[in-house]
Amino acid sequence: MLIVGQGLAGTALGLELERAGVPFAIASDGHARAASMAAAGLVNPVQGQRFVKVWRVEELRPFAEDWYRGVEAELGVTLWHPLRLRRLFANATEAARAARKLASGELAPFARAADGGVEIHGAAWVDLPALLTRAAERWRARGVLCAAAVTHAEVQADATGVVWRGERFAAAVLCTGRGVLAREFFPELPFEAAKGEILHVGGSELPVGHAVSRGTWAIADAPGRARVGATYEPGVEDEAASATARASLLASARAFVPGNLTVIEQRAGVRVSLPDRLPAAGWRHDARIGLFGALGSKGTLFAPWLARRWREALGGATNAWPDAVSVARSHASGGR
Ligand SMILES: Cc1cc2nc3c(=O)[nH]c(=O)nc-3n(C[C@H](O)[C@H](O)[C@H](O)COP(=O)(O)OP(=O)(O)OC[C@H]3O[C@@H](n4cnc5c(N)ncnc54)[C@H](O)[C@@H]3O)c2cc1C
Repeated sequence: MLIVGQGLAGTALGLELERAGVPFAIASDGHARAASMAAAGLVNPVQGQRFVKVWRVEELRPFAEDWYRGVEAELGVTLWHPLRLRRLFANATEAARAARKLASGELAPFARAADGGVEIHGAAWVDLPALLTRAAERWRARGVLCAAAVTHAEVQADATGVVWRGERFAAAVLCTGRGVLAREFFPELPFEAAKGEILHVGGSELPVGHAVSRGTWAIADAPGRARVGATYEPGVEDEAASATARASLLASARAFVPGNLTVIEQRAGVRVSLPDRLPAAGWRHDARIGLFGALGSKGTLFAPWLARRWREALGGATNAWPDAVSVARSHASGGR
């Protein structure tokens, strides 16, 4: 098996294959442009202005926690950090909407009313940079990770597998995030990109392990520190930190995070989604080139579960992926 890209998707797939004893190699062009290195790693079961429970969250969230905790033991690094997340209302419409949903039981067991907002249960943040860095060290030491930018022309698929730079593999799975390779091999998929930026700030008086959100969120990840994010710029595809994002994130965080906030670091990345905001997994027509992508803004929750589905598919399972996340699903009706 050849995995292309070692962001969150490629790392999760590699770890699953390792557990299953399936031999694999990873070709990675490094982490400089990986969205996973910019991401906050937030797992939030109830999202958005409309207070919507994430797709299959009852199954995905416990799976993700078990999975990351298992990887912690394997890699010797702390990844899963539980959070007390308070979602503050930005206006009266949001308050009324949340009240309706809480009364109907639609958000149970993940939300309950709190002063000026909603308290979200089951939230956490995952240290994705630590996961990627530690896995890369291990795979580099074992000769599994190869530093290379794979091009479309180099990958030759035939009846028995895939050949890349003279080496034969049973198949290749593209875990390339916003990289062009997925668009070249899956031109029928209407990928959408959105740039995002986050700040690491000092001077926060939010207690460690607490997070607050009001459009912008703040996560207290260390004493006196917090991460604040994220901007969302549809159609923008660069990883340059911008002064505009820095100013707007700082201004909104200062409105609800106690303390004298100062910027320590700024990170930017590009999320890739499909119109229905669900991820994509599955084979191209020849069943030799696969895709594990379109993780959008919820990769932290989706990736472990999808990696397990991939492991099952590579073990011979048919229908490993529900239709809702299959690369073959239709996108004719647009977003939801
Ligand atoms: C600012 C920001 C905040 C976010 N916050 C959250 C959050 O709180 N929670 C959450 O769940 N999600 C969040 N996300 C989304 C999350 O980052 C993604 O869902 C997830 O990290 C995507 O992982 P990936 O492996 O698909 O892509 P990436 O992490 O981008 O990894 C792809 C890798 O493949 C490499 N690559 C590409 N092409 C090639 C090639 N041809 N050859 C070799 N290597 C190649 C790239 O260099 C990269 O290293 C955020 C994103 C951003 C930008």
